[in-house]
Amino acid sequence: MVKSKDMTTILLSFLLLLSPSLSGGGAASAAELLTNEVAIHDAPKWLTAARVNKVVQKVQRMLEWDIRKVEVRWHSNESEFAAAHGLPVVRDGTAQILAVSKKSENTIHVGPRVDTTNFDGTFGHELAHVIVYQKYKTAIPVWLEEGLANYSAKNSTVDYKYLSTQPDVDVKAMGHPFGGKGPGPRFHYMASTALMEMIASKCDIHELLQLSVGEKLESYLDTFCGISDLNAEFRRFVKRKAGS
Ligand SMILES: [Zn+2]
Repeated sequence: MVKSKDMTTILLSFLLLLSPSLSGGGAASAAELLTNEVAIHDAPKWLTAARVNKVVQKVQRMLEWDIRKVEVRWHSNESEFAAAHGLPVVRDGTAQILAVSKKSENTIHVGPRVDTTNFDGTFGHELAHVIVYQKYKTAIPVWLEEGLANYSAKNSTVDYKYLSTQPDVDVKAMGHPFGGKGPGPRFHYMASTALMEMIASKCDIHELLQLSVGEKLESYLDTFCGISDLNAEFRRFVKRKAGS
């Protein structure tokens, strides 16, 4: 399945690269943007390789990894994007899905609401997911992955006042943000990002990540970062940040 899909993608890029005239004299504005790390299909005209590279370099530096080629599909149509990611519609209406990475397929799907104002943070976030899969495997706990992705892409704005008004949850049990059983995507993304900021305030993230390769990051929170009770520490951190 995956293989034949990849073949189609490869064939498509091949055709577009070799004979752009096949697309019908510009009727389709589909552009192929190729760098060492990514192949972006149907990229918008405003996107340049230099801009893509800047984002790639930033995330690679932060997570100390050279990305193995990722296929990126840009969807200009909302229903086509929804069909590609297959995630449920968000009930609380506050978290819009902008882009999605399918880690096991090594692909990123970018939706129609990604534009020149939010590309860097959104794309960097998805690249961080790809690196987590390629480099860290299962070392990064689910409750921290969204926060790590935001932190790596410098895509984080945490509303600590909002977090401080939410009921206490066991953050380690948050599960997947769209899993349906957890506290919901808005809380999940914000709490995960706040957890990342909290951990970064206690220990060196680069060293923590280095320790975590092939291991479980969680096992170093106590010994390396001095966080013995994650939930209690999190509640204190949120309260303090909300008050400041
Ligand atoms: Zn994410």
